[in-house]
Formats: sequence, structure tokens, C-alpha cells
Amino acid sequence: MPPQFEFSREEVIRIPFLLRPFSRLQSRPTAAEAARLLTVITLLQRSTVHPRPHSRREFLGCSVEALLGIGVWQVADHPLGSAQAVSLAATTALFEIQKVAADVYFALARPWALPNSNAAIFVTSSDVLVVDAHSHPAAAAALIAQIKNEITSKPVRRLVNTHFHWDHTQGNHAYRTTGSEVDIIASNTTKQLMSQLLVPRLRAALDPASPGPRGSQQVARQLKDLREIVRRTNSETEKASLQERIAQLESFAAEMKDFLPTLPTVTFDNSYVIREKSYDLHLEFHGFGHTAGDIVVFCPQRRVIVTGDAYHPGFPGFTDSYPQRWPKCLDSIANLQFDHILPGHGMVQHSKQDMNGHRNYIEELTERVIVGKRAGQSIADLQRNITVTSLKSLHARGLTLAETSDSLESDIKNNIDGMYDRVEKTSFTGTEPVRLRE
Ligand SMILES: [Zn+2]
Ligand SMILES: [Zn+2]
Repeated sequence: MPPQFEFSREEVIRIPFLLRPFSRLQSRPTAAEAARLLTVITLLQRSTVHPRPHSRREFLGCSVEALLGIGVWQVADHPLGSAQAVSLAATTALFEIQKVAADVYFALARPWALPNSNAAIFVTSSDVLVVDAHSHPAAAAALIAQIKNEITSKPVRRLVNTHFHWDHTQGNHAYRTTGSEVDIIASNTTKQLMSQLLVPRLRAALDPASPGPRGSQQVARQLKDLREIVRRTNSETEKASLQERIAQLESFAAEMKDFLPTLPTVTFDNSYVIREKSYDLHLEFHGFGHTAGDIVVFCPQRRVIVTGDAYHPGFPGFTDSYPQRWPKCLDSIANLQFDHILPGHGMVQHSKQDMNGHRNYIEELTERVIVGKRAGQSIADLQRNITVTSLKSLHARGLTLAETSDSLESDIKNNIDGMYDRVEKTSFTGTEPVRLRE
């Protein structure tokens, strides 16, 4: 039996920061390090937080998935770690289905080689509505199968895309192959951005000669890095773990080689209401935020809201954002009456507290970057000047452990880089740059 751990909300928020130091381990961890890492892995097995889907950080030392790939083998060699390593590898279902309220389920995405969004599932009197479709059709197909096995045999007849990002929409095609007619619902802007940006960004991610899309994964380079690590390692356990990850990335690259987006078939500007026998679903645009087209799915009778990436635990993704307008978008969302937040990544939230912290961080960082930029400061200047200790909103959100300050600095640097050239952008012109890494 793995040890049992209890985690507070604050500890859950800190997972990415707790994990980061382990990415730098070059040799077998000490017993204390291993115990700490096991704690975090155990939590991930239980809850699967995907904290930073849009980080531009390079593969090694960045994502939870990378850390699981690298970290597990390190622990697996350690006497404390073998049971946990085995049980983690044995986890096969891509999603953990959780019941949130009557007829409402949350599909928490488990770690995979690449980010997958969570999904929300609403069961109606005759069929099923799913919110968000992950990063590739095979993941969406896996969720469709889990819904059938674990929730209901009713067919999925509606799919909602909260926003255009690859990790929420590239699986849409799976819903075209279920044998049922499925409406795909999104905002007009999301449809436009999907058709404009998904293919060139995916090509950049799969092209070894490209720096890769900003704020997203460079799959070809990850594969190259992993193969190099496998070549250098002597540990069979390590090799097996890395090769599993390589196989996942290769299967993604093969599956997505000729990808064309499956676009929304039902679109709207501001609001679209679905009325069911026992509840309504309000699909609503609350203004520019994470992108120009984010919508939420609000169910007043069940006091549930699905927020996509407009809000999720951890650091926000600024790549396509409107930083000055984002807090107002969140204020508008927060005015709705709900008790349960189903975010695009990370765990269900049962209060508005962390969403409020996320809002305040966006506002504070944006103000700081605007002031600095107007004074002629570069990205590097701002990254030097805006420190963890100077951001009050982070303290209020509980992200201030001394042991993790390096990690926090790094996340803030990424956010400054992500927002710098968008920080005063307030309108959508209809075209967006592909934005590759520099
Ligand atoms: Zn996302
Ligand atoms: Zn997103």
C-alpha cells in the first residue's frame, strides 16, 4: 500500500513548485528527497494536477509529465520508491472520472506525455454533453469509452470547446466517429482562431527545425532529448520509463501528422442556452481573457461552472491573452452563483478563493509590466525587477515557500515573457500571429 497523504488546498497549489527541485537531481536522491518526491507523486496519482499547460519552458525541468518521466525512475531505484513507481506505470485510464453534482461529472486528465485538458460531462435526459476535447483524437476517444463504461450508455450528442487552444480542441475529430450526430459548439472567435492557428502551430511543434510554438510543446525536440537520455543511461528501469514516454510522443506525432481541425458546427457571439428537463446550461462569453474567445459553461441549478483556461489552478497562460481585460472577465464570471469550479487543468475547486487569487495575480503582474514597459524596460529588465517577494497577490495565494522561490521566480519570468508584447492589447483584429519561440 502506498503511504497515505493528506494535502491542503495550499499544498495542491504548490505541486508544480514542490516538483521543480527534483528536475535538477543528477544522481540518486537522498532518502529525504525521495520521500518528498514520493509524496508529490502520490498526490499526482490521486489528483493529477497539470499546472502549467502553456509554459514555454523547455522539456527537462519543466512539466509535471517530464518530471514523472524522469522522476519515477530515480525513485524506482530507491528502496522507498519501487511500489509507487510500479503503481504509477500501471495507471492506464487517461482520465479520472469524478461525480461533482447530480448529472455532472469531471474528467480529470491524468499525466501523459503531452498536456490534455480536463473535461466536464453533463448527462441529460436523452444524451450527453462534453466540454473540451484534449490534445489529440485518441485521448478524446479514450474519454468517450470511459463515459460509456463508467457513467452512462447514452450517446454524446454535444461537444463544447471552451477556447481554441490545441490541448482543448485537437481531439474534436473523435466525436465524428461515434456513430451519433454530434454538434460542436464554441464562440465564433474560437472557431476563427482554430481554423487560423491550430495547423501552423502543430506543424511547428512537430518540425525539428522549428523553435516550436510559443507557450506550447516542441514535440520533435522533446523526442530528440529523450532519445539522447535513453542512449546515455544504464538503468533498465529508467530506460523503460523513458521509452514509454517516447512511445507516447511518437504515437502523437504519427496520429497528428496530417491533422486538420474539426471545426465547431454551432457558434455564437455572447450566449447560447441549452434547456434540459432538470437544468439549463448557459454557454457564455464574459470578455477577453485567456484568449479572445473563451466561454464558460454555467449550470445554475447544479451551481457548477466550467471555466476552461480562463481560470485554472496554477499560473495562467498568457500566450494569446488580453492581460488588461482578463481580470474584468473573471469578475464577471465570479458574479455568477456557483459552488463548484471545473477548470481546464488541475482539480475541481469548491470555492472562489483560488480563482480570486489568480485574478489578482494577473492584475498585479499586468500593472507592473505595463509600468515597466512604458518606462522602456525590456523583458529581461522586468524579469530581474519583478520578484516573488514583491508580488503581494502571490503571498495572498499561498505561493511563498522559501524552498520554492526559485521555481516561482521561473514561473513569473515565463509569464512576463508571455504577456510582454500583449500586455496592452485590448481588441481582436481577426488575425493573430502564429507566435513561435524566440
Ligand atoms: Zn489548456
Ligand atoms: Zn488555453
